Amino acid sequence: MIRGTTKVCGVWGWPVTHSASPAMHNAAFEALGLDLVYVPFAVSPENLKQAIAGARALGLVGVNVTVPLKERVIEFLDRLTERAERLGSVNTLFWDGDQLCGDSTDGAGFLEALPITLTPGMTAVVLGAGGSARAVVDALVQSGVRVLVANRTIKRAEELVTRFGATGALPLEEAPLREALQDASLLVNTTSIGMHPNYAQQPPVPEDALHPGLFVTDLIYNPAQTRLLARAKQCGCGTQNGIEMLVQQGAISFTRWTGQEAPLDIMRRGVKQFLGKTDTIIEAL
Ligand code: NAP
Repeated sequence: MIRGTTKVCGVWGWPVTHSASPAMHNAAFEALGLDLVYVPFAVSPENLKQAIAGARALGLVGVNVTVPLKERVIEFLDRLTERAERLGSVNTLFWDGDQLCGDSTDGAGFLEALPITLTPGMTAVVLGAGGSARAVVDALVQSGVRVLVANRTIKRAEELVTRFGATGALPLEEAPLREALQDASLLVNTTSIGMHPNYAQQPPVPEDALHPGLFVTDLIYNPAQTRLLARAKQCGCGTQNGIEMLVQQGAISFTRWTGQEAPLDIMRRGVKQFLGKTDTIIEAL
């Protein structure tokens, strides 16, 4: 129930209506009986400066920032965490006294969600070189993994390799991916290929490159099973969709804002309820 004492958290994006974060965080606040509410705010890049002033004026407890504001918000903040500084990207705003600070929880959320053990020297192939790829590549490199980055725009993959000390860049095409995946134990899709509503699309990963020693994780969580994951499962690979990463990165924000351990099961349920029966959609393909 919203009372006179209720404080506000939220997510800023443009657009923001697709976000699963309100369902996830409100479920957690409610389950723990916290006097907090989490609200989506459609903030255009042009209004970001005013939104920052609004966060101060209205006493927002915490904010998630999503596309296209993750980089632009930095110039308005007082301080960044080390990892946000390294990435040049922020997805969580929090207060340290009266200082408004920025953190990036995607990389840590990705690692926390991954159900396989990373060992130094193992090879991962990351598809994509956008915002989420930065967090994933950085997290994997920091874990001692050899990372090959494949992207449609090869220049962006090369930039990521240089910036985060990854092993190499390749075009997002069948032949180089087949070769790169031979010795790989992990394949991560960070591109938006196959995301709602483009269920039929898939990255150009050749079927014969999907060997049972390869674990395939897709950051996409809508649909719950992309075409890439469905094919990988058929080929005997272990698979994972983006829901657990979403929950884990959200859990880190939750703990920053509330000082409490995040109720992960409640948050998972909140996300799944929001997403509905996406599995049914992919089965119909
Ligand atoms: P982004 O910064 O816009 O990057 C998109 C990437 O996809 C780029 O590498 C882009 O290649 C590539 N791409 C897009 N359309 C393509 C196409 N038709 N053919 C080839 N490549 C294409 O997006 P993002 O923020 O990284 O998000 C990417 C995905 O990750 C989204 O589905 C998002 O929902 C998901 N995500 C999930 C989580 C989670 O917690 N599970 C967190 C963050 C993001 P170019 O460089 O060539 O344009």
